[in-house]
Amino acid sequence: MYLARREYQVDVFERYSDLRRLDAPGHRASISMTLCQRGLQVLGDIGVEEAIRLLAVPVYGRRVHMTTGLGPFQPYGNRDEALYNISRNELNRALLLHAACFPNIRFHYDEKCIDVDLATTTISLQNMQTGVITRHHSDLLFAADGAYSVVRRYMQRLDRFNYSQRYLDYGYRELTIPVTAMGEPAFDRNELHLWPRGHYLLLGFANRDDSITVSLFLPFAGALSFASLQTPEDVRQLFAQSFPDTLAHMPWLEEEYFARSANSLVTIQCSPWVYRDRVALIGDAAHGIVPYYGQGANAGFEDCFILDCCLDRHGNNWQSVFADYEMLRKPNTDLIGDLAAQHFTELCDRVNDSRFLLRKQIERKVNQLYPNVYIPIYSMIAFSSRPYTQAMEIERRQSVVIDRLMALDQIEERWNSAEVEQIIHELIQEFLSDHCYEETVSLV
Ligand SMILES: Cc1cc2nc3c(=O)[nH]c(=O)nc-3n(C[C@H](O)[C@H](O)[C@H](O)COP(=O)(O)OP(=O)(O)OC[C@H]3O[C@@H](n4cnc5c(N)ncnc54)[C@H](O)[C@@H]3O)c2cc1C
Repeated sequence: MYLARREYQVDVFERYSDLRRLDAPGHRASISMTLCQRGLQVLGDIGVEEAIRLLAVPVYGRRVHMTTGLGPFQPYGNRDEALYNISRNELNRALLLHAACFPNIRFHYDEKCIDVDLATTTISLQNMQTGVITRHHSDLLFAADGAYSVVRRYMQRLDRFNYSQRYLDYGYRELTIPVTAMGEPAFDRNELHLWPRGHYLLLGFANRDDSITVSLFLPFAGALSFASLQTPEDVRQLFAQSFPDTLAHMPWLEEEYFARSANSLVTIQCSPWVYRDRVALIGDAAHGIVPYYGQGANAGFEDCFILDCCLDRHGNNWQSVFADYEMLRKPNTDLIGDLAAQHFTELCDRVNDSRFLLRKQIERKVNQLYPNVYIPIYSMIAFSSRPYTQAMEIERRQSVVIDRLMALDQIEERWNSAEVEQIIHELIQEFLSDHCYEETVSLV
């Protein structure tokens, strides 16, 4: 859409059928995913944000479910910041509907790219209905073909192409908690529900119809793993012991569990992302990110925005556009890829830890007192468009304030007192005099 807006003729080739058709055969199973301000801002820029928000459920924070009952609600911020949960298919459908309004975008469905000639930007496509193979030449080729990109596979054959692919030992299976007999959601629809259990995790978001999609994250192998859950009884026993409050709401647990396969999670990094002034990788094709920070699609949308900014800067000089695009994006997507992989530990283990919860409470308090100066890293990632690398650099500096507060005697009892508030004022003044004030203020 960004390219069409600049009056390029755009041809989109998709291996599956048109998702907008109700009877479209063979497209991907949907997943439940969240958009945050980073992605929504880009969608706003191309005029589709409102349509997409209508399809999404806002989620204002986390709720931890312990085996003994519900833990405290952990809001994402002090200003009603929310993630927006949406089904991937509904998101894609809304994007397709919007894109169809551009007369200079042509869609070619059921066309699978099977071969790429990078030098001539020519792709070979096999029609998935008829088997007929055709070739298509264009001046520019954007590989938006996902984590297992065919175009990238051809780039890997080039000299000095770097590529790494790291699978987590964990996978996920999506399951459903239907609405209750009263037609209500089993758990609060505006919260992310977490059942952290040290080395495994259940995580759920409400859908628009008030059902809840939960993802069970487990190791593939080991004492408690997808491999160890062999029978319906094994599955029921795991849920009874580890997630007891879900069991009464999951009438089809065992059937659903065995009907769905466990999916793997991969981090992919590569370089270069571009081939001469002709081909560019974008989205997951350039950077596969595990979903624990909810950033894969958001980062992909941001790629489009940055590419468009590079076009503003360099006009039709695609060599410069591509060079700038990769230079601006790659360090950021590498970082979020690494952070996302680490975030699993936080979700699985630390959200249950009293010191961790205290730290989050203190962060929120400091943010409440100094909303323009201290912004928690999660907020900078999800609720701003600050480059990920900058957010991390700021976090490195500002976390010293929280470290010092956490080190105070009996902080557990005192954190919300006037005395600690005074210490916060002093620490922030110190922080501001150590770091350029203007720079910190420009955070917001
Ligand atoms: C379980 C899970 C949860 C996630 N949760 C979140 C979340 O909460 N927030 C978030 O931002 N991200 C999330 N993500 C990541 C997000 O789904 C991806 O980052 C995003 O879908 C990437 O978009 P893309 O367009 O680059 O690639 P894809 O979505 O993979 O799209 C690629 C497209 O190319 C087509 N294609 C592929 N190969 C060919 C071919 N050879 N010929 C023709 N067409 C082809 C595919 O059919 C597909 O339509 C999650 C991912 C998973 C797996």
